[in-house]
Amino acid sequence: MSLEDKVLKQYEDRVAAWMKSADREDTIHVTSLVYGCARKVWYERKKVREFNLQDDIEGMFRMWIGTKLHETPLSDMHEYYLSSYIYGNKVTGTIDEIFEIDGMKILIDKKFVSKEPKDINEHYLKQISIYAVLLNDVKGIRVDKIGILYSRPLVDYYNKNRNKVFLVDVTDQLLEDTRNELYKLIEDISTGLATDTLPAKHESWYCRYCAFKDLCDNNQKGV
Ligand code: SF4
Repeated sequence: MSLEDKVLKQYEDRVAAWMKSADREDTIHVTSLVYGCARKVWYERKKVREFNLQDDIEGMFRMWIGTKLHETPLSDMHEYYLSSYIYGNKVTGTIDEIFEIDGMKILIDKKFVSKEPKDINEHYLKQISIYAVLLNDVKGIRVDKIGILYSRPLVDYYNKNRNKVFLVDVTDQLLEDTRNELYKLIEDISTGLATDTLPAKHESWYCRYCAFKDLCDNNQKGV
């Protein structure tokens, strides 16, 4: 192995070790709920598969850069931790930032992306909507807007479009619809865990990226 390769290997190994040490506690995290599939969360909770971050170097570095982005506070309410028990399950999430601008509270989730985003995508909107519900129901804090701040690599300093933010109004309807969906999903996960049965599939575009697709297609519970 050349000296250059050894330096690179040490870099990648250290990043992988750091990411592994930052593993999450054993709860249902909001980011697991955004695809609306109780079965996927069932597999995660049952720990049917060990993940090795080094099998996916690109994904590992994307996660690492994203993690570092999250460590930088952009507001006075930075990394605001939420937890709640729903049907006996601990549901947790961390709101990246809550800005207070022009008398409004704005809940922001930060994403690191390489391509220029055109809008908030569906599952990011789901994620921040669930945060808004938990923040409202658990802490009694009602935000006025929710949004995604996309951070992009500095391709061209004079290109003012390199970072983007998209905001959405928080209405009573949005909170109500999200709350109903959240409770139904957790109820399905709960029932599946309590009875050791696979929850129904929730098929979507995400399935082809799902780590459990092979098991799911064959209705297998795993080992
Ligand atoms: S493959 Fe699709 S339906 Fe099956 S567990 Fe994954 S997300 Fe759910």
